[in-house]
Amino acid sequence: MSDTVLEGGCLCGAIRYRLSPPILFVSQCACKDCQKATGTGHTTIVGIHRDQLALEGTPKTYTNHGDTGGDVTRHFCGTCGGRLYTSGTLPGPVIMIQAGSLDDPSAVSPQSVIYRKDAAAWDRFDPDLPSYDAIGPARPQIAAAKAAEAAG
Ligand SMILES: [Zn+2]
Ligand SMILES: [Zn+2]
Repeated sequence: MSDTVLEGGCLCGAIRYRLSPPILFVSQCACKDCQKATGTGHTTIVGIHRDQLALEGTPKTYTNHGDTGGDVTRHFCGTCGGRLYTSGTLPGPVIMIQAGSLDDPSAVSPQSVIYRKDAAAWDRFDPDLPSYDAIGPARPQIAAAKAAEAAG
């Protein structure tokens, strides 16, 4: 997994970002909301602490109510529609970058498949990856980030 600064941005280039290590987790998310929001079978998300993201430009946002009960906000370019990252009340300080918005998406490697229960019948995943019906192994990293923030 990359331990260097990664750069990325939207399709038109109006929004750019730099993402500092360490990466907390990388998952393929097959939930219904990710399908609708991206128009794909699943999206690849890179979990980091929000302080690790340096943005240039102002994304538009859309907030809805997530599967686990909190608000989920998706951040995207208002010009080209390119998805950039997702934040939410439950993950709190942890945000999820869309791996496809990285200039080099191959710099990260998925570690798990989450919300497998919602996957489209035709979607395919690496059989070597652990897969989970719901949010799965992202939880410990999110809990640790929240605990660190609460401790100041
Ligand atoms: Zn754009
Ligand atoms: Zn999802």
